[in-house]
Amino acid sequence: MISVRGVRKSFGSATVLDGIDLEVHRGEVVSILGSSGSGKSTLVRCINGLEKLDGGRITVDDFDVSHPKQLAEARKRSATVFQLFNLYPHMTAVQNVTLAPIQVLKQSRTQAESAARALLDSVGLGARADAYPAQLSGGQRQRVGICRALAMKPSYLLLDEITSALDPEMTAEVLSILARLAKTGTTMVFVTHEIEFARTISSRIVFLDKGQLVVDLPTGQFFAPDGGMSKPRIAQFLSKMR
Ligand code: ADP
Ligand code: MG
Repeated sequence: MISVRGVRKSFGSATVLDGIDLEVHRGEVVSILGSSGSGKSTLVRCINGLEKLDGGRITVDDFDVSHPKQLAEARKRSATVFQLFNLYPHMTAVQNVTLAPIQVLKQSRTQAESAARALLDSVGLGARADAYPAQLSGGQRQRVGICRALAMKPSYLLLDEITSALDPEMTAEVLSILARLAKTGTTMVFVTHEIEFARTISSRIVFLDKGQLVVDLPTGQFFAPDGGMSKPRIAQFLSKMR
């Protein structure tokens, strides 16, 4: 599991994560909701070991991300797709997807390429495998990003607002892939503003507000009339989203 315990993070005098506790077990889909600036991306970056914690502890399958010798093992187990397209522009889709399997997992180029082509095919990009990012639409780039993450065979897939820069049609393309992954038991931490979609795929919903995790409920309870939604702060958030 991913275990986040008492995590604190500040930038200068601003406290961005103020004692976060969160557990994500294998097989779960946990959606993280919260206003812009509430600390969602910082939390994801902390889970990836991209930010130094000011307090608390994060482990991924018992590997401590703050421990230099354990970070590589932790990172092998979780893979992240970010909000902004962060593919390497000078590499084709298939080259983007095979880079880490070759360098980190030490797969042969042949093995990595055939796996990458199969993955790209599975997200409807079989015919675009040799295209460069600039030749792809935003939705296609995010689908390549998902393939790049999945190529590492992660135990946990972290998705940070991967549809927020996409138009509705492209968003739907990408969400349908996530729905399929959820059905096949992929463990996901899904940072999103797509409330209705989160409702359909998540086992749990957590809500971040000013660096604090104010709600952590099974999806049904979150959306129940007297559940998490009834908290004024969340009701206000949801009313802006719908
Ligand atoms: P969210 O993803 O929920 O929109 P973020 O985690 O990106 O929120 O940001 C939370 C707060 O931390 C924001 O106020 C943001 O400006 C601040 N912040 C994030 N990263 C940095 C950084 N590297 N340096 C300074 N402030 C940052
Ligand atoms: Mg963010």
